[in-house]
Amino acid sequence: MGKKELAAIFSSDPDRYYKVSLFDRLGFKRQRCNNCGKFFWSLEEKPVCPDHQYYGFIGEPPTNKRLDYVSAWKQIEEYFRSNAHSIIRRYPVVCRWRDDLYFTIASIVDFQRVIGNKVIFELPANPLIVPQMCLRFNDIENVGLSGRHYTSFCMIGQVCNADAHGGYWKDKCIELNYRMLTNSLGIRKEEITFVEDVWMGAGAFGYSLEYFVSGLELGNAVFTEYEGNENDYRVMSNKIIDMGAGLERFSWITMGTPTSYDCSFGPVVRKLVDDSGTSERSEILSKYFAAISSKLDYMGGDIQTLKSIIAKELKISDDVLAKIITPYEAIYTIADHTRTLMFAISDGALPSNVGGGYNLRVILRRALSILERLGWKMRLEDIADMHIDYLKQMYPELEEHREDIRTIIQIESGRYIGSRERMEAIANSIKSTEKKIAVDDLIRMYESDGVTPDFLVDVGAIDSIPSTFYTKLAELHTSQAAAQAQKPIYGIDGVAPTRLLYYEDKSIRDFTAKILKVIDKKSIILDQTAFYPRGGGQEPDTGEIDGVKVLEVIKQADIVVHKLQNPLDSSVGITVHGTVNDRRRGLITSHHTATHVLNTSARFNLGSWVWQNSAFKDENYARLDITHHSSLNREEIERIEKTANNVIRQNLPVKIKIYDRGEAEQEYSFRIYQGGVVPTSNIRIVNIEKWDIEACGGTHVSTTGEIGLLKITKSERIQDGVVRLEFVAGAAAMNYIQKQDNQLTMIAQSLGSSKEKLVQSFQKSINETEAAKKRVKTIIRKIAPSIAKSISNESKQLGKGIKFYHIYDEELDDEYHISIGEKSIDCDPSLIYVALISKGEGIRVVVFVGKTAQKKIKAFSIAKRLSVQLGGSGGGDDRFGQGGGKFKDKISSALLSVEELLLDSNM
Ligand SMILES: [Zn+2]
Ligand SMILES: [Zn+2]
Repeated sequence: MGKKELAAIFSSDPDRYYKVSLFDRLGFKRQRCNNCGKFFWSLEEKPVCPDHQYYGFIGEPPTNKRLDYVSAWKQIEEYFRSNAHSIIRRYPVVCRWRDDLYFTIASIVDFQRVIGNKVIFELPANPLIVPQMCLRFNDIENVGLSGRHYTSFCMIGQVCNADAHGGYWKDKCIELNYRMLTNSLGIRKEEITFVEDVWMGAGAFGYSLEYFVSGLELGNAVFTEYEGNENDYRVMSNKIIDMGAGLERFSWITMGTPTSYDCSFGPVVRKLVDDSGTSERSEILSKYFAAISSKLDYMGGDIQTLKSIIAKELKISDDVLAKIITPYEAIYTIADHTRTLMFAISDGALPSNVGGGYNLRVILRRALSILERLGWKMRLEDIADMHIDYLKQMYPELEEHREDIRTIIQIESGRYIGSRERMEAIANSIKSTEKKIAVDDLIRMYESDGVTPDFLVDVGAIDSIPSTFYTKLAELHTSQAAAQAQKPIYGIDGVAPTRLLYYEDKSIRDFTAKILKVIDKKSIILDQTAFYPRGGGQEPDTGEIDGVKVLEVIKQADIVVHKLQNPLDSSVGITVHGTVNDRRRGLITSHHTATHVLNTSARFNLGSWVWQNSAFKDENYARLDITHHSSLNREEIERIEKTANNVIRQNLPVKIKIYDRGEAEQEYSFRIYQGGVVPTSNIRIVNIEKWDIEACGGTHVSTTGEIGLLKITKSERIQDGVVRLEFVAGAAAMNYIQKQDNQLTMIAQSLGSSKEKLVQSFQKSINETEAAKKRVKTIIRKIAPSIAKSISNESKQLGKGIKFYHIYDEELDDEYHISIGEKSIDCDPSLIYVALISKGEGIRVVVFVGKTAQKKIKAFSIAKRLSVQLGGSGGGDDRFGQGGGKFKDKISSALLSVEELLLDSNM
């Protein structure tokens, strides 16, 4: 059963599902659309539903109120406040509380938590409204063109739990919406139509009434009554009202501007028109956009055809029309894209080539290429500033991130310009080749060179983006993630949950426990354990159970499984004794708390976009991967390290407390989800007072002072937008520093110096080496003539006019042989000089052939023959050849074959 069938069921019993008390009281009549058969309710009789209606409000709004974007929100906020709703601040546009979404796509998502395959609704107040910014990237092509599509928009969410205190159901919901439209927005009641519909979401569904005014859909009130899917469902014990309405449309209906962009971006559009020097052709523009806005759906979404029709109506050519409207489409698109980037970056997302960051990079580059194409000098960061100036009345938190947003947009813009040339070169090479470009080629180009397929389409290198591109790309990344997932253990169903002693008292290292189950002889489950299992990037404890080594500890659901080196003698029901390796646990614990300290230190020093991407905590090593746009320089690393050590020295208390999830989110914000989503309704919050707060299941020290010391050992950019910090803490940091210190002492000793003067001594030693090299060169130059003479004497005569000298040298280098070889053939033109020089694992080949000998054989052919025999390659010119190989055992046979070559060529 699909949406259609479900709609038919609900509409077959309108009294049960759709008729609300308001309809009866005011005389709303139920009608059926002559066109599509949908059912709808309105005061006046109409032949068709609003889906087939042009926008009647453009230029002629159905109310006397004129509300710009922010004023429209203030109006709605005031209305709901006076109707006993709590006003909730918007949630981040980056959806950190759900694994299955990168971005918040609807207001109801704020209150949904997914556990297993079940969706749970958690409301921080009842009833409530929230001005939720939502990001959607599925309709990018229409943004800026259609008059009403956005990559980000504000969905006003009116939400309540119908069965809890303060809640209400459909009668009151529609009553509130009706009064909002008529009293608060001043809309004439005859203009309002309610359309019967169905809404199916993740794990829950219901019937809904969409409300339209003058052909424009303003909102959709969903009565979420069922959980499950359409084939297997039950009535929810807490039914949910989920009314979502676009704020952009509320403003638009009262303003009646040609597009919703004209009233939703505050002063930004006006400013961009002025700054770009776009000329005003207001009459044609209004007519054009009014037509596009209102007829696009009606035309089946085909913008190009509609454009031609409108051009004809306006009695101008397609080209003239394009000239007038293109700058406006550009302005609307740029205004939309910068607003989306502004919200995403302020909530901690970075443009990149992975995950949700990909969409941000796409729109940023799209906006930049529009500016470039039109030759406009505006900067995106300045436009983002304009948005903040306007929207901070509604979202004051944006002001805090103003600088960060500028920084990221600047960095990304610079990157785009830098990569343009490379991308163009790749595009040209694609254009010049006959070969068809496969999806895999596109993926490779995207992953290694950041060449987006959109760009290749733009420049005409490919016709279209293959439909499988994004799916394949997504698969690639999910298969990488899945490969890391833990393999499930079978046969533990029905075993009682393990009592987790490591949470009850973190100091327990010895304990006794009863065996509940043995799997495959070597894996055991106990009734309680002090062994910390692998999880959240923390490596497991090791130790012994009844003298047998514990190799691995894992937790599946609420059961801990210990994997042993050998089978135990005891069986189910027997009490055993466990000992946790205390040293290892201590080191890992220090590393874990240090990770939290370091994470906030990185954010503090680098910027608000820094989040934990992943982390790993072992005995002698830890790493933290953070989201950051560039690799770190020495100075940044030092600052991060210093701040972290300051926090350690302040000896801040580390407090651990279990919170109700909603309470934790409201109190500490979504910053707590550094380690990812927590799939339980209780959250363990690790709070390093005044420094870092995270939801975390790991083991921690009691005060930061216990960490002692934190030393970053290495940092590298491991992927686009992710930087890795490797570090050591506590005793491991001490070991690391001692080891480095010992190495320095050894170096100092071998230089005959002290550690304090090491740099000086090292410089001196380098200078001395340079001087010695110079001296050797001079000596070689001086003695070369006499060596050359003796070489000429020692060489083997191979028939008339050719002499052959060869040497395998393990002591002197190629520089020596180049000087001597050159001198030797000057002094004896019939000489062929071959030196094979041992160099590490390989052999280097140097060949000189004198003037006379060159008539018989060239240096490059000897170098080539030798090198190939030695398993390498070589070349050169008539006089000088060089090369190399790796088979030292082939030296004599290679020389022999050269001798044969010489004899042959001398015939
Ligand atoms: Zn219809
Ligand atoms: Zn943690």
